[in-house]
Amino acid sequence: MSAPSLAVPSSGGRFMRRLSSTEATRESMSMGPTVVVPPKHLMAPSNASEVAAAMEVARHEIDSAATPGTPITPSETLVTDKYAYAFDIDGVLIRGGKPIPEAIQAMKMLNGENEYGIKVPYIFVTNGGGKTEQERCLQLSQQLEIEVSPGQFICGHTPMREMAERYKTVLVVGGEGEKCRQVAEGYGFKDVVTPGDIIKDNQDTTPFRKLTSEEYENSRARNFAEVEIEAIFVFADSRDWASDQQIILDLLMSKNGRLGTRSETFEEGPPVFFSHNDVVWSTSHDLTRIGMGALRVSLEAMFKAVTGKDLKTTAFGKPQIGTFQFATRLLQQWRKDTHCIDMPPDTVYFVGDTPESDIRGTNEFDSHADNSWYSILVRTGVFQEGTKPRFQPKATVDNVLEAVKHGMEREYKKALKASLQDSNALDSAVVEE
Ligand SMILES: [Mg+2]
Repeated sequence: MSAPSLAVPSSGGRFMRRLSSTEATRESMSMGPTVVVPPKHLMAPSNASEVAAAMEVARHEIDSAATPGTPITPSETLVTDKYAYAFDIDGVLIRGGKPIPEAIQAMKMLNGENEYGIKVPYIFVTNGGGKTEQERCLQLSQQLEIEVSPGQFICGHTPMREMAERYKTVLVVGGEGEKCRQVAEGYGFKDVVTPGDIIKDNQDTTPFRKLTSEEYENSRARNFAEVEIEAIFVFADSRDWASDQQIILDLLMSKNGRLGTRSETFEEGPPVFFSHNDVVWSTSHDLTRIGMGALRVSLEAMFKAVTGKDLKTTAFGKPQIGTFQFATRLLQQWRKDTHCIDMPPDTVYFVGDTPESDIRGTNEFDSHADNSWYSILVRTGVFQEGTKPRFQPKATVDNVLEAVKHGMEREYKKALKASLQDSNALDSAVVEE
């Protein structure tokens, strides 16, 4: 199934090129092997003197090796098959609903506006959520002035899609209004209950929260004395911790997820899944704000205080290995569908702002994966200069544009080194003859 088409906002009066269009696919198919060949016009200034010196060597090498009659022009921008990027969103590209200034330039750079004359495939891996993937991609497209397809996007709750077959009736918590119910139904969950439905059935459930008329209207009437809730999914941040926690706790202490009952062992309640475990996140406030991971900590502590028992919950999202495996599959499919590259990249540069999820997850996955996952920490979000990150990135840079430049320069140096080694090997072969 092809990804839905999204409106492409124009940038500075000209259209951005649709990377996922059929035309682009045909073009990339006719381009032949997608290898990184440093083009002649790449010798732009660089801050690093070693890169400048290396480029000077490369200029000589490439000039002498260039085949006459096959000039590289900007319209024939190659897509690299050697590496790719994966971006966290909050605190890296977006903060408080607005793009981080360097983010738009960073995206342009990946789409060919760079000194190397190449395009680099990329995906987005956020722990955030609360909207459908399509809706979030449309919003991101407008914010970043590029086209973002659901085929290159994973949010915290995306992997929950794979659990829709396992549970029939589920409680979905968090997000605005009815949005998370819609997301869950879109994933194929058959019977989705919200805290609003439960309060509508029994308004004494939450003594200090009354439904607004709109919430009452949207909530579904049913008799929960006859319903067994098989699992609890926290899809997005709770908008009302007190009442959401009360309802979750009622279910955890119930017999088989039936509201109004109390288990004698407190071991008969449904399992709880969180779409991620970030305790804090970066938004428009100067200081970090508490998030879903904090709700998880709170719930586990409360369960212990009330029942004396330990509660085991499950979190998806970064830094879970499963999320990075999911990202690997998504990237593989995206590169295949859009760029006709049917092999994994040698290196994936993961750019994030949260050491505990982005950097930890990338580093741990790097030690498992067949290819290299290279963590880059930015200073525009959760991580602040002057503190020591709990998990050490391979590189720390000021912002996402610097992160993109860092990876591209590193790859250029690698390609250069490989090409010089090839050239030396050729020279030796000639001498031996
Ligand atoms: Mg972040």
